[in-house]
Amino acid sequence: MNSYRKELWFEVPTRRAFINITPDVDECLKESGIKEGLVLVNAMHITASVFINDDESGLHHDYDLWLEKLAPHEPVNQYRHNVGEDNADAHMKRQLMGREVVVAITDGRLDFGTWEQIFYGEFDGRRRKRVLVKIMGE
Ligand code: ZN
Repeated sequence: MNSYRKELWFEVPTRRAFINITPDVDECLKESGIKEGLVLVNAMHITASVFINDDESGLHHDYDLWLEKLAPHEPVNQYRHNVGEDNADAHMKRQLMGREVVVAITDGRLDFGTWEQIFYGEFDGRRRKRVLVKIMGE
């Protein structure tokens, strides 16, 4: 069995954003040479997510409003975590959108369902952050 590891780096200029990282993961898969196996993709920060869904801008707008309803950024003093920081909402948004995804690799391709794409969800941006790509198989 072979294994491959790579870190993808992001510096989002806004507090929140959704980025389609499917081409980056695809590039990792090609680099790994693995044809059958699994790829794990996870955010390496507790205020960011990796998730799978549709690459549709209306949906991403809806996610943002939904997350803001469930865990509004303001007022920042509503959260006990926000002593000396202001990102409690980002921790909660990450919890809702998840930490990682696992995708099957078949015939050297990401074996997605219909419309599935991999996204990086940033909830406390404006600094450098990492995503881990770990591929195992043969
Ligand atoms: Zn925090």
